[in-house]
Amino acid sequence: MNGYAGKFLWVNLTEASLREEIPSEGLLRDFIGGYGVGARMLYDRMPPGVDPLGPENILGVLTGPLTGTTAPTATRWTVVGKSPLTGGWGDANGSGYFGVALKKAGYDGLFFTGISECPVYLYLDNGTAELRDASALWGKDTYATEDWIKADLGEDVEGACIGPAGERLSRIAGIIHSKGRAAARSGLGAVMGSKRLKLIAARGELDFSVANKEAEKAARKKYMKEINDGVGASDFYRQTGTPGILTWTIHMGDVPVKNWAGNVTEFPDPDPLEFSELLKFRKKREACYRCGIACWGISSLSYDGTSIEAHQPEFQTSGAFGCLTMNNDYPSLIRANDLCNRYGLDTISAGACVAFAIECYQNGLISREDTGGIELDWGDHQAVNAFLMKIALREDFGDVVADGVKCAAEYLGSAAEPFAVHVGGQELPVHDPRFEPGLGLIYKMDATPGRHTQASQFTVPPGFETDRPAYGDQREQQAGRGHYLKEASVLTHTMNASGVCLFGYASTHVTFIPDYLSAVRGEEFMVEDMMVAGERIANIRQAFNVREGINPVIQQLPGRAYGSPPLEVGPTKGVRVEIDQMTQEYLLDMQWTPDAAIPTREKLEQLGLKDVADDLWGQEDDCE
Ligand code: SF4
Repeated sequence: MNGYAGKFLWVNLTEASLREEIPSEGLLRDFIGGYGVGARMLYDRMPPGVDPLGPENILGVLTGPLTGTTAPTATRWTVVGKSPLTGGWGDANGSGYFGVALKKAGYDGLFFTGISECPVYLYLDNGTAELRDASALWGKDTYATEDWIKADLGEDVEGACIGPAGERLSRIAGIIHSKGRAAARSGLGAVMGSKRLKLIAARGELDFSVANKEAEKAARKKYMKEINDGVGASDFYRQTGTPGILTWTIHMGDVPVKNWAGNVTEFPDPDPLEFSELLKFRKKREACYRCGIACWGISSLSYDGTSIEAHQPEFQTSGAFGCLTMNNDYPSLIRANDLCNRYGLDTISAGACVAFAIECYQNGLISREDTGGIELDWGDHQAVNAFLMKIALREDFGDVVADGVKCAAEYLGSAAEPFAVHVGGQELPVHDPRFEPGLGLIYKMDATPGRHTQASQFTVPPGFETDRPAYGDQREQQAGRGHYLKEASVLTHTMNASGVCLFGYASTHVTFIPDYLSAVRGEEFMVEDMMVAGERIANIRQAFNVREGINPVIQQLPGRAYGSPPLEVGPTKGVRVEIDQMTQEYLLDMQWTPDAAIPTREKLEQLGLKDVADDLWGQEDDCE
């Protein structure tokens, strides 16, 4: 159990009962932690076909074996469950301080079932757990909830909570912590809301054992030096964080414009979105728990008569609320980010939903009457933020879009379908497949579709030998590109399951996680083991979706994001993503069936998943 707290907690919210479980060493060894362990647990404990917002859905919250160790950026925790947005496997990744507090409170994983009669919160304190009444917190935004935690439970307590959007079961709701860090994708904030679970609060000083402290110390020295020496993307993350690439990527055509239908030449001047402009509003630089990169910050400004002190927007948030809606006004983007965090919305999906609504309004599919009097126009940031509030509170047409663009397009009819840019129900991040076609494959084939981080944005860390083209390079050569997805995705799965931040992983050599896992767990773990564990995680996530009847091979894709038809102007003009070819290349490497992406029996058995093979393919005939 080195590296682990050694305990799971099951919380039956219908019965208000708690039960501890000791995880098996095999489970932790094979699936590492985080969504790896979460996927195996939910595959085993939840039948297919459950209502994502019903009592049978299991909401899991897990850390990894490196979470809270001395490993640089080891701050991560994961939420898992059946996604109400996609109807399939859902996970989302958080950082900040909560994951470390959860583990030091004595738990590697929490699993919530049932639905509470009244709002509750779970309080964890150094190995003890208690469900408490949260009626007084219900209706509060996430900042007020976090203020209450610090004032009433103590400064040393960390929390992860939902806001009014999650309470209202918005399918684009996330789980917020540290007043602006978020585990936001997959709509799992709605699952938490459906269970009437407002908050998880954790306090802890419990230690977990590390097998080889000398090796851990040596790894800390080695990999912090790499980060400080500028290995991989470390200079970028240390100097600017994600907003630092915004204008460059806009110019390169990596950021979609005007709800994916426009091109960069139509976008207003991107210069006001330079990082130096964001810095003008920065109050302080910030970091997650003991992180030496410190990639984020707090902005302070007045916008539209409102004083704001809030987490600065990340690249994705500014791209979604900026480029998709044709807005280059940074103060308004800081406000949009602030509103999403306060009300508990995924900024990627929320920005996409606002852009969708603008396009519907501009094409006469909705009117001023539907928007509650707001005139939605491209570039009108005040209208954008006003409509964002409609989504957060489920008012007027905001009530419809609060369940995502897929649901909204179904509500409006076929004329709205081209405006709804999603894969499998989840809105796309603002990295454009027409710039890096490999992303189109990730968006289509990951078990949580429409995610850019699930294959480290189609890159691998330094030191992993490969002849892959750099991100966005040689995109005219798409043949063969699908063969690079397996390695990027399985490495990313192990990284996520370990509890390490993607930015630390991209700022060190590929040996970082294996070296640390070896030191902490006390068993030799090599890069090759990282590949196998990641592949096992990929297969159990995919098996979950197969059981739910999801077939990504025949998934309908948004034409405008895949270059069908291609853009006629701009840096990505003429690019059409050869998605079918890349899909087959990836399926061949994964040993998943070419027509339905079902993991083959041979592959599952090779990974030690015979029981899953029997589920998907039926019991083998013993007589043969
Ligand atoms: S790199 Fe940034 S997001 Fe990652 S752990 Fe450090 S501060 Fe947090």
